[in-house]
Amino acid sequence: MQQTKRMLTPREALDIILGQVQRLPTERVGLLEAAGRVLAEPVVAPEDHPPFPAATMDGFAVVHDDTSPWREIIGEQFAGHVIDVTVTPGTAVRITTGAPLPPGADAVVPVEDVELVDDHVVIRREDVRPGENVRPVGVDIRRGELVIPAGTLLGPAEIGLLASLGIASVPVARRPRVSVLSTGDELVEPDAPLGPGQIRDSNRFMLVAAARQAGAEVVWSGRGPDDVEQLTALLRERIAESDVVVSSGGVSVGERDLISAALRRLGTVHIERLFMKPGKPFHFVTAGSTLLFGLPGNPVSALVGFELFVATALRAMTGQQPVEPELVTVVLEHDIEPGDRIEYQRAAVRCDADGVLRARNTGPQASARLLSAVGANAYLVVPPRAEPYRVGERLSAVLRGPVRGLAARS
Ligand code: AMP
Ligand code: MG
Repeated sequence: MQQTKRMLTPREALDIILGQVQRLPTERVGLLEAAGRVLAEPVVAPEDHPPFPAATMDGFAVVHDDTSPWREIIGEQFAGHVIDVTVTPGTAVRITTGAPLPPGADAVVPVEDVELVDDHVVIRREDVRPGENVRPVGVDIRRGELVIPAGTLLGPAEIGLLASLGIASVPVARRPRVSVLSTGDELVEPDAPLGPGQIRDSNRFMLVAAARQAGAEVVWSGRGPDDVEQLTALLRERIAESDVVVSSGGVSVGERDLISAALRRLGTVHIERLFMKPGKPFHFVTAGSTLLFGLPGNPVSALVGFELFVATALRAMTGQQPVEPELVTVVLEHDIEPGDRIEYQRAAVRCDADGVLRARNTGPQASARLLSAVGANAYLVVPPRAEPYRVGERLSAVLRGPVRGLAARS
């Protein structure tokens, strides 16, 4: 099946790519290795949390409706040590935060609200509410409750929660194995002196970083020449060892279709061009269960193609939710001239004092100008239309980093 000449929209492309993705096998990892991994099965609480009624303040455990003028201190209950006493009217137990409430007690009076007279305690206020300063059993989490759904990217909060519930290891998706190939006879390493007509290979370093950021294990990265035979051999080797192979370059018409020719020999071509800017040349090919992405050579095109399509495929392979890049609505801070294709402009989005997201692009949007992506926390989605977009108009944006502004207000 070859859908060679038709230009697909980004939406159609995503559907085609997601339709080809196969889920990766799962493996079990300990909590110290779980950050950044994708949970493969839902986690249900195996026990109540907290497991015992616990004091939330340092103070005295008492019976709330005890009317005695003073109470005898019959023991001290520290966190992690359980003493064998029962609180009855006329008695109290000194207790620290996190310690279990002794039997008989139903409230904790904070140390600030009492006066000590020898081995007695006098409460210096009117009434004590039942349950005051006590976390009852299971108040945070009930046994059997779904606490983390499958597909969750595990971060500090989830990992801490798992530990609190006595879950020391979790099933996660295996990391996708990714190979990154730069093509072009003009390319040299960043630390090499530039000869005539040479440029530095920025895409390899950029795409390795992007792949890792997307949770992949980069098993190989390297450079290949502008030669169909050699590219084919190199790619064949990479396919055998990778879940995903990402190449850049060799896609412009002037280059005699280098990558296309190699990719056609190796698998089924699903996409060759996209109706978008930057990144019109875009190859998506499958070879067995391996996905191949032939990104354009221009660095910005390669980055946008990776973040919109390759990263989405990587999330789908691990089952990560949400799979697709999420859109927010932003208000334009300046006019924008639309093109004839849907354009993903690199932009800085910030949150103003009224909580409105405002977007400004990062200057000239040439696809060779990687500086346009530096400091860009969003791709502004600019659909084609006859007249310009005006300042104050609303557009969609794909966030690629945190939005600043809100924290400053709180
Ligand atoms: P191509 O897709 O190979 O025709 O490349 C398009 C443009 O991107 C050309 O100007 C290339 O020199 C440039 N380019 C290709 N690969 C890279 C790379 N790995 N790093 C930086 N620029 C590149
Ligand atoms: Mg090239």
